[in-house]
Amino acid sequence: MIILFSIISHSPGSIKNPPQGWPGTVLSEVESETPGPRDCDIDCIVMYGGGLTSYEAAKRAIERYGHEAVEIWFADTRTEDEDLYRFNRDVEKILNHKIIVFSQGLDIWEIFHRERFLGNSRIDPCSKFLKRVPLRKALEKQYPNRACVHCKETWERGGRTIHVLDIDGTEIKEAICKKCNYEDSQYARSLKHLEKLISEEGENSNRARIAIRPIQNRVERCSEDGKFVRVVLGMDIIQDCDRLHRAKSYWRPFVNWFPLAEPPFGNKTRIIEELRSIGIKEPRLYGAGFAHNNCGGFCVKAGRGQMVHLLKTLPERYLEHERKELEFQEFIGSEVTILTETRNGEKRNLTLRELRKRAEAGEDFRFEEGTACACLNPLSPEVDEIAW
Ligand code: SF4
Ligand SMILES: [Zn+2]
Repeated sequence: MIILFSIISHSPGSIKNPPQGWPGTVLSEVESETPGPRDCDIDCIVMYGGGLTSYEAAKRAIERYGHEAVEIWFADTRTEDEDLYRFNRDVEKILNHKIIVFSQGLDIWEIFHRERFLGNSRIDPCSKFLKRVPLRKALEKQYPNRACVHCKETWERGGRTIHVLDIDGTEIKEAICKKCNYEDSQYARSLKHLEKLISEEGENSNRARIAIRPIQNRVERCSEDGKFVRVVLGMDIIQDCDRLHRAKSYWRPFVNWFPLAEPPFGNKTRIIEELRSIGIKEPRLYGAGFAHNNCGGFCVKAGRGQMVHLLKTLPERYLEHERKELEFQEFIGSEVTILTETRNGEKRNLTLRELRKRAEAGEDFRFEEGTACACLNPLSPEVDEIAW
């Protein structure tokens, strides 16, 4: 419940106050956060992945902010299903909006070779170098400045900040607007209250986490010409609660907008129906039972169930990855694998070849839909700094 509150507190149109009796708080302490910039001062960068939910997010961003304010960014892993590119072309047509493609000229296997590291459920150099790093770099470049959303005063690098620890241990660091601290008594009062709480209870307290809200996002990233930005992600609060929270931590100091976590709530079935009604077919992987349209149904973060599902639905693609895994072992001189399994308390490597043979021999591997890719949400940008 605390996690849920922490997440939704940053979405436009979200619940502004926690329920009565919120742990560790008295209601008088709960103030609403800084009203964000006006819609006309906001750009939207939609992190589009080629699937249904990111299409819906792009659509809602254009509806709310207009074509001028929206850019749709797509990071191409060159490992995508061919039908994804057809869907992207359809999306460009129906939204009447160009998709900007980020391609590093490499596919996921070329990244593993370059980095001399095979991706697995915990570490994903593929999405790091093909998606997160280039997208984040572009964002930093396009929005290099900081300014107050209230008075528009520029916040200079090295200016005053304050921080508390979020419930997952990540740091919530907020820049402070000097001008508002002089001129806006409510802001100044909130800041004083937070400082007092931190000195009494430390940075890792529920009350400090709540008290930082009124000053949160007062200073935001902006472009050279003063436009603030929303990083738009197509996750919804029902299915993606945990991923939503991680995304918010990861994209700091940029502010996210999750349009699908706001009404009208809808699921993939509704999006499919709407698309079909205008003559557009959904990406074919959904019909084949995959929850995401990433990397052609393959993913180093997927479990055995999804891999076997890939084997059953797109056997040639599975065999290609199986061959590439063995090729990588030869290249690196070690029997590393994407998958591992624990047997009798002992963890062991599991090649795609062995998995295929066992599946062909009749062993059952449960496919838990929706547990795969979290490409755009590692714990924090610092995680991406760690080399292997
Ligand atoms: S979908 Fe999986 S394999 Fe593809 S880039 Fe993302 S983490 Fe890597
Ligand atoms: Zn200000």
